[in-house]
Amino acid sequence: MGTLIYTHRACLDHLPGPGHPESPARLVAVLEALRSPEFARAAWREAPLGTIEQLLLIHTPAYVDEVESLAPDEGHQALDGGDTVMSPGTWEAVMRCVGAACAGVDAVVAHEADNVFCATRPCGHHAEADRAMGFCVFNQAAIAAAHAQRAHGLERVAVVDFDVHHGNGTQNSFFRHPDRFYGSCHQAPFYPGTGSRHESGVAGNIVNVPLARGCDSATFRSRMAAELLPALRKFAPELLIISAGFDAHQKDPLGGLNFTDDDYHWITHELLAVADASAHGRVVSILEGGYSLEGLASGTAAHVRALMRS
Ligand SMILES: [Zn+2]
Repeated sequence: MGTLIYTHRACLDHLPGPGHPESPARLVAVLEALRSPEFARAAWREAPLGTIEQLLLIHTPAYVDEVESLAPDEGHQALDGGDTVMSPGTWEAVMRCVGAACAGVDAVVAHEADNVFCATRPCGHHAEADRAMGFCVFNQAAIAAAHAQRAHGLERVAVVDFDVHHGNGTQNSFFRHPDRFYGSCHQAPFYPGTGSRHESGVAGNIVNVPLARGCDSATFRSRMAAELLPALRKFAPELLIISAGFDAHQKDPLGGLNFTDDDYHWITHELLAVADASAHGRVVSILEGGYSLEGLASGTAAHVRALMRS
């Protein structure tokens, strides 16, 4: 038992083009940080390929067909006006992302690990049922939640998202499902423009904590403790999925929040406590954004340190 890390080298072969912030160097930085001796206790597995059936838990058949048919043999193919770009390696990369997230769920349910971190890219939380958006092709966090319900019969699954951007795709796919909880803190106003407090789902199953530009550690922690964590505890998830983006880090060039490494350790610790109370500690964390290589590496290290309970 302990922490299990999924990754795959195919996740380095999604090449959105020179100058694109969602670059393979991000995953290289994360893997380098996680190979430090302090994480030697973690187990590693190769991410399997996801399946079409898993994609269809969240995405429409027409969209899945569209992505598969647009995948280029050479060059690039834009999916949403240029933000989300496919290269020849993209299809396998996104299928490894989905496969890692679902295998992570299988592993914690089978007691093969206490918790899981998916060191995969690209990110997924902006992907809608029927379209790519904001660097995201398929929504691996939402798929993993639906997979936990479909394949393992779990009743209540939560996704908590601390990426600096609101996960519109996850929210929309959970909105009408009272057995799925989505909680997000994010910079607002900011891309993608969703995530107001009034977006609360069909049963209070959506909780948004919009944070003003410049938000510091103290405000972040008190808002999470007052607004998101009590609602999550009340929902009592049987599995907790984390959309772990590190673009709210103070070093991030895209985000305007000021989270520190210690904040990522703190929120992870708080989320593990909720998982301990209702989910037998089962947590599957999935890498989302983070565009300062340094902030991404140190934020991820703090997060995984907390997952390993050190
Ligand atoms: Zn982001």
